Amino acid sequence: MAGREPMLLRISPAKLVLLALACGLANAATMPAATMVAPAGAWHQREAAIMGTRIAVELWSKTEASGEAAIDAVMSEMHRVDELMSHYKPESQLSRINAHAGEGPVRVDRELFDLIARSLEFSRLTDGAFDITYASVGYLYDYRHHVRPDEAQIEAHLSAVDWRSLELDPANSSVRFTKPGMRIDLGGFAKGYAVDRSIELLRARGIQHASVSAGGDTRILGDRFGRPWIVGIRHPDDAHRVILRIPLENVALSTSGDYERYFDEDGVRYHHIIDPRTGHSASKVRSATIIGPTATQTDGLSKTAFVLGPEKALEILKRIPDVDGVFVGPDGKVYYTPGLAPPGK
Ligand code: ADP
Ligand code: MG
Repeated sequence: MAGREPMLLRISPAKLVLLALACGLANAATMPAATMVAPAGAWHQREAAIMGTRIAVELWSKTEASGEAAIDAVMSEMHRVDELMSHYKPESQLSRINAHAGEGPVRVDRELFDLIARSLEFSRLTDGAFDITYASVGYLYDYRHHVRPDEAQIEAHLSAVDWRSLELDPANSSVRFTKPGMRIDLGGFAKGYAVDRSIELLRARGIQHASVSAGGDTRILGDRFGRPWIVGIRHPDDAHRVILRIPLENVALSTSGDYERYFDEDGVRYHHIIDPRTGHSASKVRSATIIGPTATQTDGLSKTAFVLGPEKALEILKRIPDVDGVFVGPDGKVYYTPGLAPPGK
């Protein structure tokens, strides 16, 4: 870890504010950036538990009524996306795919079809680190009840983890599994997608300054009147210790960590990001933060370093425009893309 004080990084490619950062800034209030006078209105905020996580919305709105209505709209959208992608609900479209796509093509709504198609783009981009068919083995884990598959069970299901065996038919908006035992799960970018949808909704309502988070996935709209939003990245082992503070505007940021959903057994950590090649928890980093234009993208890409390791993930990120990443390795070493350079470097 680079020192005890949190680092504040300067982010160029993601079109972030350039700050004069001679000293380590503790928070936005100490920032030398010029501050505009805010127009009439106020900040509104709310938190809720949806999609199995903490949803947080903060926005600037001219009136109390329009601010509260905008937050209501975001919360409804979170519920809608949850329904669409839930694998808990047997009647959901996703559950229908898992139950029947092995028998033949299953027709689904365009929105779900497009998301599945999008997931294949992420699989291609990440050399298969992101793979929604991870669920063929992933469903054998139950982190809450400390259940995990043994080697024989993994062996029996691993060949079904293969994004290339998902057959999509755009003309019919249908999905088919070409291998027995396949399952899909969209949890790898569902929250990011819900956050993006929420930001679009807010924009359509004329909101110009907002932050929407679903667990580790956040998207920022606008700034805080002449100042950036400051987002902190926590230490993997200490929820109260911030290792980095990043100034952000008009950008998305996702952090995945092995401390989110996990259990430890005999010194091994079993957590919720699965290496599609082995069926085991992917442990090449402790946490990964991706910054980029949309939360769907940053959420999807945040799995790469866990599966492929920090060096390979940095190589992949360098090829993608406007995307940056920061990883914390198993030994606490911090890795970052060239676009994220500590001040003075
Ligand atoms: P959160 O679900 O809190 O946003 P992450 O962004 O770290 O947490 O995503 C973890 C989720 O991603 C898992 O719960 C699972 O649904 C999904 N997942 C796990 N491994 C993979 C993988 N290799 N490819 C795609 N999705 C994955
Ligand atoms: Mg996520």
